[in-house]
Amino acid sequence: MPRIAILLSILIALGGAPAHAQEAQRSEVAEAANALRGKVVAWRRDIHQHPELGNREVRTAALVANHLRSLGLEPTTGIATTGVTAVLKGGKPGPRIALRADMDALPVTERTDVPFASTVTTTFRGETVGVMHACGHDAHVAILMGLAEALVAMRDELPGEIMFLFQPAEEGVPQGEVGGAKEMLAQGVFETFKPDAVFGLHVGSALNVGQISVRPGPMMAASDSFEITVNGRQTHGSRPWNGVDPIVAAADLVSTAQTIVSRRTDITRLPAVVTFGAIKGGIRHNIIPESVELIGTIRTFDEGMREAIFADLRNVSEHVAAAHGATVEATIPLDHNYPVTANDPGLTARMMPSLEKAVGTGNVIDPGLITGAEDFSFFAREVPGLYFFVGATPQGVDATTAPSNHSPEFYLDEGALDVGLRAMLQVALDYLDGEVEG
Ligand SMILES: [Zn+2]
Ligand SMILES: [Zn+2]
Repeated sequence: MPRIAILLSILIALGGAPAHAQEAQRSEVAEAANALRGKVVAWRRDIHQHPELGNREVRTAALVANHLRSLGLEPTTGIATTGVTAVLKGGKPGPRIALRADMDALPVTERTDVPFASTVTTTFRGETVGVMHACGHDAHVAILMGLAEALVAMRDELPGEIMFLFQPAEEGVPQGEVGGAKEMLAQGVFETFKPDAVFGLHVGSALNVGQISVRPGPMMAASDSFEITVNGRQTHGSRPWNGVDPIVAAADLVSTAQTIVSRRTDITRLPAVVTFGAIKGGIRHNIIPESVELIGTIRTFDEGMREAIFADLRNVSEHVAAAHGATVEATIPLDHNYPVTANDPGLTARMMPSLEKAVGTGNVIDPGLITGAEDFSFFAREVPGLYFFVGATPQGVDATTAPSNHSPEFYLDEGALDVGLRAMLQVALDYLDGEVEG
């Protein structure tokens, strides 16, 4: 075999780029991935076994901060409760980037049979619940810890500066608290260090290990919840004319709200979703109640459509209720919502070759629009952002039926750690070097 073919086959044997990769991975990426593989797996297992809910990531944050200190960095801790950042200054002048990982777990009782499965329980909304890294944020933390170690080792040759950004509470905050990306920004993370670009990744069951998915522009939806109370006038169920029936008004409201997407939204441009998740009203078969409460969620992919749907839903609520002689109190939207997660088109085009180098050209796919939401969107609203998915389902297993993120059976093939580290390292180095390809 010629030398290059031997080298390539060694890379493949080490879990490197597939044979059809058009361009070779940077050698420092392959070296770092090989050197760090064992450590990243060990960190991930440790974090997996000790999951913590949003704004409670105390142990995880300490693990991160200690690691960053051991690398000679000076982390800032306690940002937005448990957030940690550290800046690495390269030996040469260059751009500034931020690499982000989320640290929180979910109130899910683990049902996998991995030896490091979580047995942690905690109290959530007054109930005892299991805690599990069912969204794979344990992998994100371990990958970013590995990236920090890899980049510190390259420090002297590195152009520019890198912020490692470990954030709490991506999945939301306990009632009455603030947190997550929004709060980290409110506390000034991008004021002291304004990056030229921010990068994030997410492991996902919908792809097999060795696949990455990404798309330019809107990728994940804005998520906005709402609350509507329809107020009528309570009376006997046998004599509705003596009162105002909020149940009929609420039923009409739910039906009419379906026309917001189907009749008033240009669905050829982008889709939207309006869902009522709960209706509560009444106590007894022969009492027309005083009021009915409705709650739900709105998903959109464009700020203009988002605002238009808020206005439409307020309008429908008020006027449908009025037609029934009822009144409404509508909070549309409620707090703690996420904007659209959109990838900067120029940045996405520029970094696509880097992702392809990491997994091979045919393995970077378009996920389509995803109606789930992500609070990386707050960072990507401040500076150009790129967010991509890394496959977590073992090769040979049907990713369309694998237990999804948030499932108690969510299973991460640890090959995803290697892919995530290589992809993000390649992206970071190519960006800092100012390589413009493709
Ligand atoms: Zn999640
Ligand atoms: Zn997640």
